[in-house]
Amino acid sequence: MTGARVHSAKRGTAQPADGGNTVAIIGGGLAGMSAAMRLCSAGFDVTLYEAHDRLGGNASSIKRVVPGENAPKTDQQNADKTAIEQDVYPHMFCDWYDNFWDLYEHDLGRKRDDYFSPRQGVSMLRKGDAQYSRLLNNTSMEALVENMQSGLLSPAETFLLGYSMLDLAAHPFDRSSFDQLNKLDVNGFIYSRGYSTENVAEMENYILTLIWSIQSEETAAATYQNFLRHCFKFPDNSPFSWLLKGSLDKQLIAPLREELEKRGCRIETGATVSTVRLCDDRPKIRWKRNPADKRAHVNSYDYLVMAVGPAALTSLVMGGDEHTSEGKRLISCEQSLSQLQRMSAVPIPVVDVYFKHKLDLFPKDHVGLGGSKYGLTVLDISQLWSDHDFDGKTAIIIAASDAASIPSASCNGQGWLMLQELKEFYPGINIGKHWRDPDCDIDWHRTNARSNVDYPLFLNSVGSWGWRPEAAYPNTMPRVFFAGDLCRTDVDMATVEGAVQSGFQAAKALQKRDAALTGKGIRGPEIRVIAHTTYSTASFRAAKLMLMPLAYGALAMTAYDQWKAHLAEGATPLGKAEFSLSEYLLLVPMQFTMDWLKGAYWLVRALSDGGEDDPLKTGILYKALPPVGDGDGEHRGQTGAADGDAAGLHAGDDGHEDHVIDLGAATLMALGECASYASKHLSGDMKKADGTPVSPAVAAAGSVLGAAANIGGTIISALQKQGGSATDPYIRRWRAKR
Ligand SMILES: Cc1cc2nc3c(=O)[nH]c(=O)nc-3n(C[C@H](O)[C@H](O)[C@H](O)COP(=O)(O)OP(=O)(O)OC[C@H]3O[C@@H](n4cnc5c(N)ncnc54)[C@H](O)[C@@H]3O)c2cc1C
Repeated sequence: MTGARVHSAKRGTAQPADGGNTVAIIGGGLAGMSAAMRLCSAGFDVTLYEAHDRLGGNASSIKRVVPGENAPKTDQQNADKTAIEQDVYPHMFCDWYDNFWDLYEHDLGRKRDDYFSPRQGVSMLRKGDAQYSRLLNNTSMEALVENMQSGLLSPAETFLLGYSMLDLAAHPFDRSSFDQLNKLDVNGFIYSRGYSTENVAEMENYILTLIWSIQSEETAAATYQNFLRHCFKFPDNSPFSWLLKGSLDKQLIAPLREELEKRGCRIETGATVSTVRLCDDRPKIRWKRNPADKRAHVNSYDYLVMAVGPAALTSLVMGGDEHTSEGKRLISCEQSLSQLQRMSAVPIPVVDVYFKHKLDLFPKDHVGLGGSKYGLTVLDISQLWSDHDFDGKTAIIIAASDAASIPSASCNGQGWLMLQELKEFYPGINIGKHWRDPDCDIDWHRTNARSNVDYPLFLNSVGSWGWRPEAAYPNTMPRVFFAGDLCRTDVDMATVEGAVQSGFQAAKALQKRDAALTGKGIRGPEIRVIAHTTYSTASFRAAKLMLMPLAYGALAMTAYDQWKAHLAEGATPLGKAEFSLSEYLLLVPMQFTMDWLKGAYWLVRALSDGGEDDPLKTGILYKALPPVGDGDGEHRGQTGAADGDAAGLHAGDDGHEDHVIDLGAATLMALGECASYASKHLSGDMKKADGTPVSPAVAAAGSVLGAAANIGGTIISALQKQGGSATDPYIRRWRAKR
């Protein structure tokens, strides 16, 4: 231990010292570990407290010891035993998780390709179907066309689904000015669109339920907008996400722990912190090592980072008696934290199913079971975990995103119901007649049902932005910092990246505060938080305007198809149709005109005033920033300057010229993608996909577009060299694409 403050678990006390560098971090999830990593590197003396005997929280794995393969039923005590790891859930790590990749690749020194497997999207299976539909991230023309042909919805409605997401990404939300608008939910947003249909709204609800366990009418539209903006990259040839080739513990958490210990972090697992108090601003914690400790320990620190989930945070901030000799409660110092009580989180029931033999039923992607009443997803880990020996047999993980719809309170009860629903989609699987029925395809020794009740998933419900803690409260609690996926970050949605970014933000804010309090300057190397690169607001709005005629055309096609179907059923033309003739003929064109004019207005605002309405300006979402010239070709380095005086976030220079240049660059990139798709599919041997020849004019048009896009790329490249403008991500992707 190197800090100025001497503290000891045995004595349970600590000696205060001015200018000390001791930090307690409560919570050993990804947020707490990320904060610890950065603070240790900066030279702080860090102790990490984790209530469970394992680190990782939502991203942890449990080790289960199961009887060995040949264990006789009568002597299982002495039979050879095998330890197997079971994840809370096998996570998807999006390609744009820049802070997470920084942690993994730079801090751990691990190459992404060695430990992760890339995925372009997810698969979907409907009941009764033998074939999976694939849903890809719309990052290329190929993906767009494949999605439209996926069969999930009609091509026209699939287009409308994608368009509604683009529309949401372009919508003017401004958290600093429009408090009530921020309480708009995703479903409400979709219904307010002139082009939306019931199927589009239903599919959006299904997607949200599946990936975030929250219905679209409960999801904050502004939050979803932030997530979508990070995902929208067109064109882009990087994968949508990456899956670990092994368990979370083996490939992520254990290496993180090892590195933390190397950097001098003291890790207390099985140590639950029960109270936090402030004495003259200095944090004091009471904790107990479970279950061995008879008495609690009390330790004081110079700084404190709270990195726990909603329920634990509320209890630590508000719990206990206000008037004790141990000091003040946090809520007495910062009353806005009472809003934490509004935050909600849900457990996700999961079943690890090990089969007695190999089943060739599952693809390599995550699979969403379309129409599943429990919101089931499936992943075949035996095709993914290359570091585990499955002995040629299949093992899958089933998760229920909609836990509230499962009519059972016990883990095994939930597990059995989930298996029964799985069978409805895969009738060939024999699950037996009851949980642990030996006469079936399932190896019950290894199969396990559980739920993350101890660290449930934070829900980004409508209005929650206003309740979420900031990284720091310098005026009221200068020595206390907050991290965790529930904190305000530009990612916004509860994700691995949100957790890691929040940890870095808290560490950065702490480092800055330490410099201010000690007056000795920044301790250690300056902590960086990587700014995400997204398309500019103007680009989203321009794309929305450009594609709007197609969206309303797709609506007209949908209405026509439905109308035809009703006629075919013998109904009156307008009987059950979703669109009445008057709406179809009169209202829709009016809606289109209004929508287009409003869109044009917001585009002009984004271009002309640098985006007063633009969340990028308010520090909620980072602007695309120029790279630091570290020569590795990555767009990393510049931080959002989490200074702890606000949410710990600041936007980059977001000048008016950059908006215009960004828009030009983005337009050229999109045109280039269309041109290369056209030339790939229409030129060359001059044949269409069905083998019929195409007109030379079409191929020539494709080539001309491609050449124009090339010239545009070169011009922007030259501009970028001169001015170092914010266009870099587009240039980078442009080059990567080529
Ligand atoms: C089923 C599921 C699937 C998910 N899938 C994905 C995915 O595919 N992609 C993705 O990006 N994200 C996913 N997530 C979200 C992601 O896992 C979380 O956002 C992230 O791990 C949260 O990290 P955290 O550190 O903020 O919080 P947590 O992981 O909740 O960590 C908090 C820690 O604090 C500890 N703690 C609590 N109280 C105390 C106390 N009093 N004293 C000491 N310690 C305490 C807890 O034990 C816990 O370890 C998923 C989450 C779940 C539940």
